[in-house]
Amino acid sequence: MNFHVLTLFPDMITQGLNTSITGRAIENGLVSIEAVNIRDYSTDKHLKVDDYPYGGGAGLVMRADPICRAYDAVASRLDKKPRVVYMTPVGYTFNQNMAREFAQEEELVILCGHYEGVDERALETIVTDFVSIGDYVLTGGELAAMVVIDAVSRLVPGVLHNDESAVTESFENGLLEYPQYTRPEVYNGMAVPEVLLSGHHGNVDKWRLEQSLQRTKKYRPDLYEAYMERTKKDKA
Ligand code: SAM
Repeated sequence: MNFHVLTLFPDMITQGLNTSITGRAIENGLVSIEAVNIRDYSTDKHLKVDDYPYGGGAGLVMRADPICRAYDAVASRLDKKPRVVYMTPVGYTFNQNMAREFAQEEELVILCGHYEGVDERALETIVTDFVSIGDYVLTGGELAAMVVIDAVSRLVPGVLHNDESAVTESFENGLLEYPQYTRPEVYNGMAVPEVLLSGHHGNVDKWRLEQSLQRTKKYRPDLYEAYMERTKKDKA
């Protein structure tokens, strides 16, 4: 899968994703990440990419023309019109379902805003999806784009090894994950739950499901309700 990130801070993207599982995926050719510097597409003699907002107000707004030129440069190299995600607090909140959907794409363009945001006409021209990573305001879209790229990349076939499988992780069955333990058996007076040492797979699965249910009920009652509703329907 190929990510193309339109940004004013390309180093943030390339350096931030060049390690760990995403770094390995890039090295193995399963994922590529191209950071396109929007400033390279400015026609201003000082390479300006922003300007004052019409109607007044604080801050600067990213101009539409360099963004659209940067997009055209990417799109002209692709076989078909790509999906373009704009990272913005004014969007649908990113979740695992969206990550799964994006992981089906061969090419994904991600636009990162900065300053007060982006001229609406650029968004109207190129953007297909408006995605937020949560109800708070970041300085720029780069960290948000990295969150999306990380979550999507690990769903690309081959990126995770078998021992890192995504199948049992939080959200995959609509619940949060159960607690995990590793060696030593007793740490600081706290012992690993007996059942995990029993070797009885049925009991381990049952304990994990109970723990998942308890945690989901506590931290994400919305997910818990939805899970219980689905289970009731499946049984009916
Ligand atoms: N004025 C904008 C608003 O009130 O919605 C916020 C602009 S923010 C300072 C600059 C850029 O950061 C945005 O254009 C967007 O790309 C990115 N950004 C900020 N918060 C974000 C979030 N929660 N999710 C995704 N991107 C975000």
